[in-house]
Parts: sequence; C-alpha cells; structure tokens
Amino acid sequence: MKTKLILLVTLISSLAFGHEGVELGPNGGRILEFSDNETMHGEIAVKDGKFHIAVLDKNMKAVAVKAQSLTAMTGDRAKPVKLEVTKDDKGFSLPLVAAGEWLILRYKETPDAKAVTARLEYNTSTCEECKNQEWLCKCKPEKDAK
Ligand SMILES: [Zn+2]
Repeated sequence: MKTKLILLVTLISSLAFGHEGVELGPNGGRILEFSDNETMHGEIAVKDGKFHIAVLDKNMKAVAVKAQSLTAMTGDRAKPVKLEVTKDDKGFSLPLVAAGEWLILRYKETPDAKAVTARLEYNTSTCEECKNQEWLCKCKPEKDAK
C-alpha cells in the first residue's frame, strides 16, 4: 500500500516536470525565487539579445537595485563559465546563454547576506499549446496530467 502511494507521487511529480509550466511575472518574464520564503523574486526576460533581471518584492512590485548583487554561470558543473553581469537601479543585465543550456544565478540581498541560488534551463523550443518558448511556457501544470 505504502509502495503504491510512493509510486503515484513519483508519477505525478514527473508528469508535472514533463512540461515546463512556469510562473510568469507582471512583465511576461519568468519568475525566479530570490529568497527562501517568497519575499523576493527576480523576473527574467530577454530584451535586445540579453537577459534582463528585475528584482520584485513579495507583491511582485519592482524594487530599486542598490545593495543587491548577482553572479551568473552557465555550462556544466565540471566546466562552469562565468557570465558578466552589469547592474543599474532597475536590475541586472547579462549575456544570453546557448539554447538548452542552464543559467545558474546567485543572488545576494546585501553584501553580507546568504546567497540564494536560482536555476533556469533556457529551453527555447516552442510550446505547442501556448506558443511561447518553453522557458516562458504559460500552460498550467495541471493540464499536463492527461
Ligand atoms: Zn505552454
């Protein structure tokens, strides 16, 4: 009985991950978690061939970027490549990663704060249902449980 339950839970979670269905922000970008408790978020979008990341509070309102810092990496664990991040009061900009690659971000609220890691697979294939790129897929995860 217990085994069956575990199998079912595993099945449901693998279905949910089979299709992206991500959380999107007020400007159509993808929401990243920049805190342990949902109080700070990043919204990442592509503009002029670069990633732009705005910092949003718990009400999804943009906050001015001052003491916050961000580092970005791509590539695999054995050979990570550091990306150059530029910052202004509206957020951070960084080069796009190759399609299908992971972007790994480490966000710090202040220089002394604990870094929060956020990961994103830059999957640029088009979702058949919502026609967005998969990394910005608007489909609700519930739809996947067909
Ligand atoms: Zn979709």
